[in-house]
Amino acid sequence: MDLAKTLKAAQKDKKQLIAFLQKFDEIVPPDLEQIVAEEDKKTWEVVNCTTCANCCKTMTPIFTQEDTDRIANHLGISSEAFFEKYLEVEEDTGSTINKVFPCVFLVDNMCSIYAVRPIDCAEFPHHDKKPFDDYNDTFIQNVHRCPATYDLVKRLKTRIETEYDF
Ligand code: SF4
Ligand code: SF4
Repeated sequence: MDLAKTLKAAQKDKKQLIAFLQKFDEIVPPDLEQIVAEEDKKTWEVVNCTTCANCCKTMTPIFTQEDTDRIANHLGISSEAFFEKYLEVEEDTGSTINKVFPCVFLVDNMCSIYAVRPIDCAEFPHHDKKPFDDYNDTFIQNVHRCPATYDLVKRLKTRIETEYDF
C-alpha cells in the first residue's frame, strides 16, 4: 500500500463517505452487521497495518488507568513516573492521552510495547464493535486517516447502495 497516495485519495473521497455514514443516523440496513463482517474481511486482505502505522503517527490512544499501570509495570517504572514522562490530560475531554506524536513507542513502524499496548490501540480501528452504527462518529473521524476504515467504508457504500435503496 502506498500510504501517501491512499491518504490523498481518502481526503478527496472524505465528504461523500461521511455523507454515506451519516445516513446510518436515519436508517440502518437490517443485515448491516453481516455486511460489515464480510466486507471487513476483504479490507484486511488488502490493508496491512505494518506498512502504515498512521494511527500511531497522527492520533493518540486514550489510556485507562489499567493501561497505564500495565505499561508502567512492563517498563519497570511507577505509574506516576510513566504518566509524568509520556502522558497528559486532554483539556476538553479529560482523557489521558499521549504527550507527543508520533507515539514514542512506535519504533521502526512497529509498536515496541505491543503485548501491553493500550486497549484502545488493540481495538483500533474498531470495525468489529457492535452495533457498528453506534461507532459512526469514530468512523467519520477516521475515514481519511485510517486506510482500513477508508477501504471498509468505500466497500460498504458500494455494496449497500447496490443492494438497498439507500
Ligand atoms: S489501524 Fe488504520 S491507521 Fe492504524 S496502522 Fe492499521 S490501517 Fe493504518
Ligand atoms: S502504544 Fe503502540 S499501538 Fe498504541 S499508538 Fe503507541 S505505538 Fe501505536
